[in-house]
Amino acid sequence: MADVDAAQRALEDALGPSEVLSDPLSRALYARDASMVEGACALVAFPRSLEDVVACVRIAGEHGLPIVPRGSGTGLAGASTPIADALVVVTSKMTRILEVRPEDRLAWVEPGLPNLDLATALAPSGFTYAPDPSSQQTSSIGGNVNTNAGGLHCLAYGVTSNHVLALDLVLPDASVVRLGSEAPEAAGYDLRGVVIGSEGTVGIVAAVCVRLTPLPPDVRTMLFDFETVEDCAATVSAIIASGVVPAAIEMMDHGIVVAAESFAHAGYPTDAAAILIVEVDGTPASVRAQSEAVERAAREHRVRSVRVARDEAERGLIWKGRKSAFGAVAQIAPHYHLHDCVVPRSSLARVLAGVYEIAARHGLVVTNVFHAGDGNLHPLLSFDRRVPGTLERVLRASDEIVRLCISVGGALSGEHGIGLEKREFMPLVFTDDDLAAQACVRTAFDPDGRMNPHKVLPEGARCGDFAMARGADAAGAAASLPEGSWI
Ligand SMILES: Cc1cc2nc3c(=O)[nH]c(=O)nc-3n(C[C@H](O)[C@H](O)[C@H](O)COP(=O)(O)OP(=O)(O)OC[C@H]3O[C@@H](n4cnc5c(N)ncnc54)[C@H](O)[C@@H]3O)c2cc1C
Repeated sequence: MADVDAAQRALEDALGPSEVLSDPLSRALYARDASMVEGACALVAFPRSLEDVVACVRIAGEHGLPIVPRGSGTGLAGASTPIADALVVVTSKMTRILEVRPEDRLAWVEPGLPNLDLATALAPSGFTYAPDPSSQQTSSIGGNVNTNAGGLHCLAYGVTSNHVLALDLVLPDASVVRLGSEAPEAAGYDLRGVVIGSEGTVGIVAAVCVRLTPLPPDVRTMLFDFETVEDCAATVSAIIASGVVPAAIEMMDHGIVVAAESFAHAGYPTDAAAILIVEVDGTPASVRAQSEAVERAAREHRVRSVRVARDEAERGLIWKGRKSAFGAVAQIAPHYHLHDCVVPRSSLARVLAGVYEIAARHGLVVTNVFHAGDGNLHPLLSFDRRVPGTLERVLRASDEIVRLCISVGGALSGEHGIGLEKREFMPLVFTDDDLAAQACVRTAFDPDGRMNPHKVLPEGARCGDFAMARGADAAGAAASLPEGSWI
């Protein structure tokens, strides 16, 4: 039984009274992330150091409170939405860059550091932290690590897991482990990799060692507009088929172009059926060659016009429209719901047609803005949840969209994670044994299920249900080693 009052007193002693919140408004504010699911929490704590994080985990354990780690709360899957008596541990006051070592191409940072603050701080040294989610102004490195965040430039540079060398993790028993290593390759199981994308279910990340990427010497940003969604989508496949892997390929359909343009005034063609923003980088010669190949692919698919950013200001403006697209849809309706399934690039046109058909059948407005190069869709269903019956229609349409993506060989999530919103979809792509094996990994870190319970795995998936575990006889297996196996 949780003793919330005792936990609050102990946390206030350890962190200071100003770092613990329990009033109804604060608890309501931290009861959800940027998704559509809402929960409830008992207490909110703001550690400022590794020692504070350890104290939070220890005190929560002593007083029977589950723990929900939280960065900036921009998650779109309900992964940091707390349930019931949870203690929400918010890292937003742990924002220091601890160490930058360009000679080793690495930096150590605290988990609450906003992604863009890291990139901005690194820029004068000629380096960057490559994963750049559209939420980078706000979302934290710790949140990015725990969702394995993607971003506009992850097509060429890879998602978060490619850019994290090591991390310090506070385990559910309040002990601290360092996973991974500063050296390029660590021996043994990749436990660092287990943490990345684990959505706060294996511990609290208290420090992250990130890989530094040199800023490219040259970059070109291009905007292509098309009269049909099909031509736009086909251009994406044609670019990749040509052998070029641009730094970024983002696609926006008509509805989102109109919304983003009226917010950002980026000069987007508002009469286009869809646009592509393509960025290539590298040496000047390679940028020239890549640009020519990309433009050729677009012309073969009847591109209407090609706009090349003339300077950094114009480049920034083109990206501003894309990065503010989720916010801009507020002009359409007050709420939106989205999934981030990934489909094979060659299925993009077909799946998009299906998405429009599903939305129309449910009487809903859908707009699409997504990482097209990765096939990572983000169909945004805009609606007003105060209208009775609307949320139900949105959820039915979402369900059909997810199933459509899976039916063409897609994956459930490209970057936002599973959280609460998508956990019941997990059996669509994983067998019972797959899920039980994942539960076993989780149990190895968190045997008592205290860390962000109810997330990722569907209700009922347990380690003990793993068919192999059920039948295994560990002692027998060890005893069956042939004579002389030990040296
Ligand atoms: C407008 C908008 C645009 C977005 N664009 C992108 C995009 O381009 N690419 C993308 O990948 N995502 C995007 N997202 C989703 C979101 O920003 C990412 O999932 C981001 O990584 C979440 O970071 P956060 O700090 O907000 O984490 P939170 O939402 O606070 O938490 C996310 C998960 O990480 C866990 N967590 C957070 N910090 C820690 C920690 N220190 N230790 C252990 N667990 C922790 C939480 O428990 C939760 O499970 C977007 C969201 C919005 C609102």
